[in-house]
Amino acid sequence: MNYNNLYKKNFKRKFGQVFLKDVNVIKDIINLICPKTNQTIVEIGPGTGAITKKLVNLVKYLFLIEIDIDLATKLTNKLSHNNINIICQNVINTNFFILSRQTNQKLRLFGNLPYNNCISIIFHILKYVSVIHDMHFMLQKELADRIIATPHSKEYGKLSIIMQYYYNIIPLITVSPTSFYPIPKVYSTVIKFIPRTYKVNINLDKLILILNLAFNQRRKKIRNSLKKLFSAKDLVKYNINPSLRADEITIDQYYYLTNKINI
Ligand code: SAM
Repeated sequence: MNYNNLYKKNFKRKFGQVFLKDVNVIKDIINLICPKTNQTIVEIGPGTGAITKKLVNLVKYLFLIEIDIDLATKLTNKLSHNNINIICQNVINTNFFILSRQTNQKLRLFGNLPYNNCISIIFHILKYVSVIHDMHFMLQKELADRIIATPHSKEYGKLSIIMQYYYNIIPLITVSPTSFYPIPKVYSTVIKFIPRTYKVNINLDKLILILNLAFNQRRKKIRNSLKKLFSAKDLVKYNINPSLRADEITIDQYYYLTNKINI
């Protein structure tokens, strides 16, 4: 098959379309997801169906959410199984509570996410973490590195701290640019996200407020960057050294501080 012709016809840059053509990577992704017949699988951005078509016979409930009407129509013609529900919409408008209610199950999400708006998609899904069983997403390696980063690294920041609050995160495989058409400039990583079963109850708006103050001036000591919220004395009382900088504060310390904000 001439992949270049197949994908050239379908390619729309505005939707971050980069199509997977490497059959070994597709096989690896299916093996990593390891779908069971009765589970509810949701693919975000099935595109030309490169991964999807390997899944259709494996599961009973399959939802496909695709923004591009041309691709969604082609998929409808190509995949005529009655277990498939193709939803042509922006995933940012998808209510995952409704999908979960339809099969009375938690959802297993996966997708080779569009590079241009991965973060908004991941943030949208945060609202639905209670109905998510797990998620396997292919992301730009640079973004994946930020999500899994730990303190004292330059990648560590708001995204790491927020995502690690909601999920246990496991990086699985790195994928070369040559596995896609068109060939992107960057490597990709497939990551597994498993919602945390325990809940340190924090208010996300408050966490974001602290993280914005701390990381917008990440080289400042927190006694200065967080002074609107905490005095140096408060920080000492909470066992946090006020002379540390944003990237030296652990994730648990940020959660702890979030619960101490009085606003
Ligand atoms: N899954 C296919 C593959 O691996 O070859 C395509 C992956 S491509 C990186 C991203 C796909 O997501 C495209 O099909 C694109 O049209 C779709 N997409 C982009 N933005 C979207 C959005 N906001 N909601 C739903 N689908 C979207």
